[in-house]
This record gives sequence, C-alpha cells and structure tokens, in this order.
Amino acid sequence: MRRRGIAILGSTGSIGTTALRVLARHSDRFTVAALTAFENAALLEEQAAFYKPSFVGVVRNGSVHPANWREGEACLVEAVRRDDVDIVINAIVGAAGLEATLAALAAGKRVALANKETLVVAGELVTAACRQGGGEIVPVDSEHSAILQCIAGRTSADIKRLVLTASGGPFRDWPADRIASATVKDALNHPTWRMGRKISIDSATLANKALEVIEAHFLFGLPYEKIEVVVHPQSVVHSMVEFVDGSVLAQMGVPSMELPVLYALTHPDRVADSAMPAFDPVALSPLTFERVRTEDFPALQLGIEAGRAGGAAAAVFNAANEEAVALFLAGRTTMGDIPRAISLALTKLAGAPGGALDALLAADQEARRLVRATFA
Ligand code: NAD
Ligand code: MG
Repeated sequence: MRRRGIAILGSTGSIGTTALRVLARHSDRFTVAALTAFENAALLEEQAAFYKPSFVGVVRNGSVHPANWREGEACLVEAVRRDDVDIVINAIVGAAGLEATLAALAAGKRVALANKETLVVAGELVTAACRQGGGEIVPVDSEHSAILQCIAGRTSADIKRLVLTASGGPFRDWPADRIASATVKDALNHPTWRMGRKISIDSATLANKALEVIEAHFLFGLPYEKIEVVVHPQSVVHSMVEFVDGSVLAQMGVPSMELPVLYALTHPDRVADSAMPAFDPVALSPLTFERVRTEDFPALQLGIEAGRAGGAAAAVFNAANEEAVALFLAGRTTMGDIPRAISLALTKLAGAPGGALDALLAADQEARRLVRATFA
C-alpha cells in the first residue's frame, strides 16, 4: 500500500503538534510531506529534522531559517498543491486558512479541516470548490467528527437534528457581570481542553459554538433549525445525531483531539491505535447536560443569526470576533467588549454583499477596521 502524503498547515500549533504525534504512530500508512507555520521557525526546524518533509514553509517574512524553506504567505497554497500531498491537515487559526483550503479542494485533495473559520467565512465557496474540484472535507473538530461518525453514511433525509455539545467553557457558571470583566488568565483556563489561545477565548464567549453551528450547517447540509447546542461540562459526549425514527446516536471519548485527527485521515475506515487514551465510563461519570445560558453568552446567538442571514454576515461575525479576541489577548479590551464588537460590526456590516471571494474578504477587512477603530 502506498503511504499517503500529508501536509500540515500550522504544524507548530496545538492541533498541528497533536497531528504530528498521531502521524508518528502511523508511519506505515502516512508520510509527512509538507509542514508550514506562521513564525515559530525554531519548532518548525525541530519538526522538519524529525519528520523529514520534502517541503517546509514559513509564512512570516524575515525569519531566520534554512535556505531551502519557502517563505511568505504563498507557501501555504504551494504546499497543498504538491503532487506528493494527498491529504491536507488545515490547522491554521482564523480566516488566514481560507485560501489554502480552497486551493486544496480545487486540486482534488482531502482536507482534514480543523480551521473551522474557513467554512464560516466562505461556506458556499468552499463547498462549491469541493464539488467542482473533486476534493473532500473531513472535519477535525471533535463535535463534527462525532456527527460524521454517528451519521455513518445515512443521508440528510434520515436526520431529524444534530445536537452539538459545548463544555460551557471556564465561565459556564459565572454571572454575566463577572464574565464581562474576566482576565485573560481566567478566560484561557479551560476546564476540559488545552488548545490554542484564540479558540480558548472563543470557548469562553461561546463564539466557538456559533462557529461550529455554521460549520455543521455547511458540512452536513442541514438548515439551522435542525442544529442545536447543549452544554455538557465533561466533554465526553462529543455530539449527538437524532434520526427521524427518534433514535439518538452519540459518539464518546475522553477529551483528546488525537482521535478526531486520526479519524479525519482514515475516514470511513478505522485503524487500530493502542496509544489512544483509554475510555472508562465509571471514571468519567457523571455525565450531565444543561441548557445554554444564551442571554449571558450573546456571541453564540449573534453568530447563529449571522449564519442564518447568509451573504457576508458570517464573515463579518468571524472577522469582528478574531479582531476583538486579538485585542483582548493583547490586554487592550475587556471580555465584555468581544460580544459588543461583534454586535456593532453586524449592525453596520451584516448586509454587505457576499458571493465572490473578493466581496467576502472586503467585508472581513471592513469589520476588522471597524472593531480596531472602535475598541483599540
Ligand atoms: P494554535 O494557535 O495553537 O496554532 C495555530 C497554527 O496556525 C500555528 O502553527 C501557527 O503557526 C499557524 N498560523 C497562525 N496564523 C497563521 C497565518 N496567518 N498564516 C499561516 N499560519 C498561521 O491554534 P489551534 O488551537 O491549533 O487551532 C487551530 C485551528 O483548529 C483553529 O481553527 C481552531 O478553531 C481549530 N480547533 C482547534 C482545537 C484544539 O484543540 N486546539 C480543537 C478544534 C478545532
Ligand atoms: Mg469543537
């Protein structure tokens, strides 16, 4: 069996390093063909020395790196188009991952997609690129991996609804006024997952769950009325699918991204992996579920409404959120400013034209400018 070539975009991040760990255990099936990172050249060099990819790219210009590396944003598209790359793990954070996803799908590759922002900014274009280019998107996000595993080949006509689980984040039981003035340290202190900084903040505001509802809408082709969110603090049930006959299937596991990463590479097959964390239902008990406190986490509803509105609204939601999160992480705004920034951007820009990529990127830029001008 020919080993399948893997490109990891964002190999130095939380998902990227998880993917490399998984790939090291499955070198009989997969080979690491390309690695890219934004600026952490030291870690990228270590990874390149160990995995020996044929292509290495670093996005930020001017970093000190070996002469045979590619430099600059164009390295991302170059990496995914290579003949020795069969599967692209897109583990970039933010809208910056969009162009590479489109290029990979247009080239007929499988995209193991962690970069959910790609589908939020341009869901229609990405799904069209997938159809036209003959590529496929397999989700890495644990909720969507769970849903894919539960659906197991059934058509959307068999599905009554999807139930996405949310841990509730570090502020699940905090009152709204305390959330609004929480520190960066409080917000990064996620109860069940260790992740990159941006998604950790998104999990604290529940903007992450809004991104995931939009992601599910495009991945599974279901209307927003059929996608619900429930809080499940233990993060053991990764999501559920209710079928038309009333049967509900859930996928479970300890909170670890290793399985969703591996499954995105092997889907629809399953591959033995004895290093996966063991599942002990008694140790993981009790498993509980709660309604979302939507009024105290306004980013969730704002995002879902942006998804329903269509056009450029979801791109505006995403860009405003990215910008507000960056300002918060830099200590320049409060936690409460994040939903305020999203709300302001949507009020002013939700009606911006969508459709072509240029229009979506223009709306994205405009939302970022507005948030910086108002909150920085
Ligand atoms: P991270 O910040 O740990 O890593 C991000 C990676 O992307 C790094 O390798 C960085 O070099 C690269 N990168 C950042 N900006 C870039 C740019 N402008 N151009 C090119 N590369 C860039 O983030 P993460 O937690 O690994 O998350 C990555 C993606 O996966 C996000 O979309 C996130 O929502 C999603 N995701 C993460 C988890 C998790 O457990 N960490 C779970 C589900 C989904
Ligand atoms: Mg998720």
